[in-house]
Amino acid sequence: MHQQERDELIFICKLLYDRGLLCGMDGNVSMRVSDGFLTTPSGRNKYFIKSDDLVHLNKQGISIEYNKKPSSEFEMHKKVYDMRCDVNAIVHCHPVYSTFFASSKYELDICLLTEAVVAQGAIPKAKLAIPSTSEIANSIAPFVDKADAILLANHGAITYGKNLEVAYSKMDSLEHFAKIQYMGLGDNSLNTINPETVELLEGMRDGYGLTTPCIPCNQKTDRSDKSLNEDEIVKQVLFNLSNRN
Ligand SMILES: [Zn+2]
Repeated sequence: MHQQERDELIFICKLLYDRGLLCGMDGNVSMRVSDGFLTTPSGRNKYFIKSDDLVHLNKQGISIEYNKKPSSEFEMHKKVYDMRCDVNAIVHCHPVYSTFFASSKYELDICLLTEAVVAQGAIPKAKLAIPSTSEIANSIAPFVDKADAILLANHGAITYGKNLEVAYSKMDSLEHFAKIQYMGLGDNSLNTINPETVELLEGMRDGYGLTTPCIPCNQKTDRSDKSLNEDEIVKQVLFNLSNRN
């Protein structure tokens, strides 16, 4: 059942692995189907799985294939599906540079790359939570309706979109952005984009048909070395959003 969707999901798993975005048994991928969800199985390397290994869940997120164990992180995926009816596919993995930002005092939020300002914005960071527990679903909840990509503190990242191609591309772009920002950390050599140009770039979102939520990039030049705590991030997100509208 759902053979075409299964084949697409397997293709995305191999692409993630080939791009170096997945490592070992890490990560999980899921998608909505007409009667529920398909997700990767628990404890398997995503490069080696076959379409028959994917687990079919009902709309409540409960496996209807009793001999297969879904990813232990599906509860985190379900939180996104419940909060965002426009999301049909989710990718979670631990790419090196994104995970560096998730695990350090640095934020991935500066106005650095023109296309990232338009399409990606600032990436919020969910607080530290224990994987495979409800904690992790709760940790991303403050940000799910404000961005399509979230860093998971000391863990990795999650991205989502209207289909698998979009969810995958957001992870690929997130890692690209993180790598470039990382390369400029040591010597303070990054040239951020001036506020007038940022405003112009953000105004291009409609023209590109970008309708999903996006937190404006951070234009502060006096950058603090301290990571914001969750309350401060939410306050900053809401402040940015209210200024935007
Ligand atoms: Zn993980």
